[in-house]
Amino acid sequence: MEISEIINQLGEERENYFNAVIPPVLQSSNFAFSSVADLREALGNEFKRPIYTRGNNPAVEILRKKIAALEKAEDALVMGSGSAAISCAVLPHVSSGDHVVCVENCYGWTKTLLQSLLHRFGVESTFVDGSDTQKIFDATQDNTTLIYLESPTSFMMELQDLSAIAQFAHAREITTICDNSWASPLVQNPIALGIDLVVHSATKYLNGHSDVVAGVVCGSAEKIQAIFQGEYMTLGPTLSPHDAWLLTRSLRTLPIRMERVQATTREVISFLARDKSIEKIIYPMHESHSQHDLARKQMCGGAGLFSIQLKAHDSEAIERFCDSLTHFLIAVSWGGYESLVIPSIALKEGHGFPENLIRISIGLEDPELLIKDLSQALDTLPN
Ligand SMILES: *Cc1c(COP(=O)(O)O)cnc(C)c1O
Repeated sequence: MEISEIINQLGEERENYFNAVIPPVLQSSNFAFSSVADLREALGNEFKRPIYTRGNNPAVEILRKKIAALEKAEDALVMGSGSAAISCAVLPHVSSGDHVVCVENCYGWTKTLLQSLLHRFGVESTFVDGSDTQKIFDATQDNTTLIYLESPTSFMMELQDLSAIAQFAHAREITTICDNSWASPLVQNPIALGIDLVVHSATKYLNGHSDVVAGVVCGSAEKIQAIFQGEYMTLGPTLSPHDAWLLTRSLRTLPIRMERVQATTREVISFLARDKSIEKIIYPMHESHSQHDLARKQMCGGAGLFSIQLKAHDSEAIERFCDSLTHFLIAVSWGGYESLVIPSIALKEGHGFPENLIRISIGLEDPELLIKDLSQALDTLPN
């Protein structure tokens, strides 16, 4: 299905709500039935029928259909945060005594889930540099049940060869999950490359307006139904109908937002690449990236999240550079309409990243405005 058909029509049944152009929020926790027989039948199919909003709600259902189609998946679940979605995707694939292989620089709370929370329940994890495929293969053990990927990662922009890893895992009946937040479904579809489940922080590009925290899991009908019946219904990570409605609205502009972000990012990077105070630009779609060929092979474009390393290593100069920016905001998160920076020196123990690293998220502002802002901040750095 065409992307414009997915975001403008799929899942919307206007005759069910007075032919309103926009679907209603349906802010109701509960749904009534015309007879006991009708209720009984619905309870036999809670996955499909709206009975109670922890399970199903029509505003959420519309969003699920659109997200699944965008990811070329059979089905999807949407949840109250990306971290909830990651937890609900991981949990069904591990039991006490199992082992997980995960990429080293994955999202911080993903690491906490594996390293601390699941460790308490007897699940062991090994973290490896996923840019070296062989390291992932070598880290798998007889009891490995899950390989967890995030490509590209969101600070160091490291990629994993998704189809090679999927092929390896399938031959050994190991489940694969990929966090696809960086690329958005418009730029990369891991399921088409053989990955079993895709997760997103929908807080980032899918919503894109920095006003909703949400997450998604996409996969086969069978896997998604299993998550629904298990983790989803028991842990209750439900996305509210209102937030689902906001996300459906955000999806209408996803392609034009991504187009704009990519174009501005190209302009900003070509400006930065000429600046003498910058040591390195870390962006998969820049030819200097060590995995540029793989990036072009498995992604059909770029996005707006990249890192730079300054020549200046002293934290005072790095801090002054960030503090001098007047349009870029200093903040966590990314993928919104507003451009952001975060230096590694702001993170606890720098998360092990280089001390001269600054992550930049490009928003929807005028590229010239952003370049001018970076230019005056770069002038504060020692020559
Ligand atoms: C933000 C983020 C998450 C977590 O998503 P939330 O919506 O904040 O829970 C997961 N993965 C990546 C790559 C992220 O950047």
